[in-house]
Amino acid sequence: MTNALTIDVEDYYSVMMRDWMGVDGPPTEAVVRNTLRILEILDEHGVKATFFILGEVAETFPQLVREIAAAGHEIGVHGFYHHQVFKLSRDEFGREVGDTKKLLEDITGQAVEGHRAPAFSIGPDTQWALEVLAEVGFRYDSSIYPISGRRYGWPGFRRDIHEMSLPNGATIIEAPLSTVRIFGKALPACGGGYLRHFPYWYTRWAMRRIQRLRPSIVYIHPYDSDTDPPPADFQTILETTAGRLEKVHVFALRKRHTVEHKLVRLLSEFRFAPLRDVIGQTLLPNRLVEC
Ligand SMILES: [Zn+2]
Repeated sequence: MTNALTIDVEDYYSVMMRDWMGVDGPPTEAVVRNTLRILEILDEHGVKATFFILGEVAETFPQLVREIAAAGHEIGVHGFYHHQVFKLSRDEFGREVGDTKKLLEDITGQAVEGHRAPAFSIGPDTQWALEVLAEVGFRYDSSIYPISGRRYGWPGFRRDIHEMSLPNGATIIEAPLSTVRIFGKALPACGGGYLRHFPYWYTRWAMRRIQRLRPSIVYIHPYDSDTDPPPADFQTILETTAGRLEKVHVFALRKRHTVEHKLVRLLSEFRFAPLRDVIGQTLLPNRLVEC
């Protein structure tokens, strides 16, 4: 079984500063440093992946996008400013994903087929976004987490890669994020904070279990495996926001030093490919379902 490895290319600011503190800032060199380190690790293991890139990162650091594409990885869209879909109107969302798709295609000279929404923010209330993605020209989406999460999730959503027929008559392929069932409940696995906080054996156990039925979709962020302190101005803001500091440390920064080792073990023990290739291998024709 070949699994999909995906990297959501964003800086520290994208999640913590905007969603939790309402503080904005441009991407910093940290996103470049951390992404280059991931590229090195992938190169050492001969693995190709999908990099879902924020528009503002591509705009600030186009050379980074060129290096990712030149190394043979797939490039996808992760929004422009990391706005969750439910914060945008249909038109605003269409502009964000359309502009980022065009920017990435202009930088790489290659067609961009895939999309991942910031913070997995396509759910029952924002499923209109799938229609917009199809209209803008995306072939597949990988934003739906079939869990009942506090901040995101679409409980009960079909868990395998499948083609959906949408109310506007278009179709799009959905590659939902991986979950495992424990005591009848779908739990998240294989990515980001879960990879950071949980011991390696949990991810390995989950992947083996998922692989009996379908490929796993693993995701990480460049900052997940950063072993340096966050950027200096970021640190300053953390120190002035007493009360939220502990929350940020617990959810966003802790155990980053364990991630590189876990990633290397995953790459050694499982087979990975870009999501586009895994979709191609997995998807059989005539598997349309109603949205
Ligand atoms: Zn993200």
